[in-house]
Amino acid sequence: MKARKTFCEECRSDTACVVSAGVMSGAIRDKEYSYPGKTARCAVCGSPVFVPEIVDANLRALYESYREQNGIIALDKIREIPAKYGLEKTELSLLLGWDAETFSRYYDGDVPAKDHSAVLTRLYYEPRFGAELLASHHKKTPEQS
Ligand SMILES: [Zn+2]
Repeated sequence: MKARKTFCEECRSDTACVVSAGVMSGAIRDKEYSYPGKTARCAVCGSPVFVPEIVDANLRALYESYREQNGIIALDKIREIPAKYGLEKTELSLLLGWDAETFSRYYDGDVPAKDHSAVLTRLYYEPRFGAELLASHHKKTPEQS
């Protein structure tokens, strides 16, 4: 609930805004999803005000909800994968047999299709699966660990 100055269309000036949290909903592919969102309102007149950070955060939360309800891997998990294996995003993408930029798009927030999500989920939860993939790529005997 921290106040900050933002432009209010009604007051026609920069005013303090009040942020409140609540359940919001949005549509993705013609289906409604509810998510924990935030609303910013002008502290003077109570009109909704536009705060880019809040709009972004709401959109991320909406997509997280979409992923959760459709069994798609969460974005923060996708972002941990390259470091888990010490790979660049492009290397990882090619290793999976995808286009060079595919993993980067998911890393930046694109929602993967179910089959790609399933592979990413295995990479995240099963280090052995990733290690074997790496090993087969380097044409070495898989190391047992
Ligand atoms: Zn206002």
